[in-house]
Amino acid sequence: MPYFDYNATSPLLPEAREAWLLASDEAWANPSSPYRMSARVHRLLGEARERVAALLGVSPDEIVFTSGATEANNAVLTWAARNLAPSAPVIISPTEHPSVIEPARGLWPERVQWTGVTRDGWVHPDEVSARLGTALGGLVVVMAANNETGVLGPAAEIDAICRHHGAWYLCDAAQWIGRMPARGLAPGAFVVADAHKFGGPKGVGFLRVPPAARSFHGQRGGEQENGRRAGTENYPAIAAMVAALEFAEAQSPVDRFTWCSDFVRDVVRRVPGTRVNGGEAARLWNTVSFCMPAHENTRWVARLDRLGFEVSTGSACATGHAGPSHVLAAMGLTPEEGRRTIRVSSGWDTAPEAWQQLADAIAHVWEQLEAEPGSRVVSA
Ligand code: PLP
Repeated sequence: MPYFDYNATSPLLPEAREAWLLASDEAWANPSSPYRMSARVHRLLGEARERVAALLGVSPDEIVFTSGATEANNAVLTWAARNLAPSAPVIISPTEHPSVIEPARGLWPERVQWTGVTRDGWVHPDEVSARLGTALGGLVVVMAANNETGVLGPAAEIDAICRHHGAWYLCDAAQWIGRMPARGLAPGAFVVADAHKFGGPKGVGFLRVPPAARSFHGQRGGEQENGRRAGTENYPAIAAMVAALEFAEAQSPVDRFTWCSDFVRDVVRRVPGTRVNGGEAARLWNTVSFCMPAHENTRWVARLDRLGFEVSTGSACATGHAGPSHVLAAMGLTPEEGRRTIRVSSGWDTAPEAWQQLADAIAHVWEQLEAEPGSRVVSA
């Protein structure tokens, strides 16, 4: 499949589709209603929770089903704003998703301490530790894997630091869960997962709430999810998400790392001057963010689209926003380098030939663009 924008969203895995259809036909009742048909859906929902919990190595009562990562990030930040001591530090990476950055700015206009970021998009755990200082408590938000660059954050180290300081850790793992092993990612943290990034349906995800956050609740207005998130559960979508996650957890990323690395080498060789954003950092097996040597990224994307390949200029949430991405800016790229950046992201069903075909298409578009007089509007 020549679709290369899995970080925006992914097609449904066959396993997920089958589970969704079955649940929609046979388990569509409201799990909270007072008759046997509903009791069955209630039981199935409990089983789905147990299966997710088993993959994470946590207790089922720590899993709250949500509508996705935006809701979960907002819910944890809002809860933290009500529960943090007034003097407790709030430490956030500037490369977080807008569903963290915007609510955080609104909740703590003067209080957020934005971390530094290396040229490779990495937040240093020592900085987090130093900022927490000797105080007990606080909130730290550093994502597990970046949606624009695929750069992996030091989630396990930050988790240990936060536990040491008694601080809450919100680990947005929307791009990690379903691609990398969920177990052991950040054992003390709030962990956010998003089904449509790993072959499940859109509009469903889950939040792992650490046992110490006994008072956590998100939206109000009902007793669903043990009183922690009001709203009728979408069991068919949850069933499909669990099927997709179990499928994903059974795959090995080893070959995929190789396919992606071979592709990167090929592109860098055929399009001289291409750089990988976050190229020295550990990255997801599915993501590469290229800073191309010339030409506006919108031209690359449109040309590749015409050849049948969907790639992105960056985050789907930022499409249409003027100016460089906040992630690339935090990594020290100039606005002009940002405008030359394209993001490629694959899924479990991307074949090795598709990577090869995409490399050929990029080389072809490069020749086309270079041959057009005056098209080098953005120069290296
Ligand atoms: N967090 C990260 C890291 C993401 O990549 C995304 C989606 O791109 C989100 C949060 C928001 O997810 P959703 O739009 O499914 O709520």
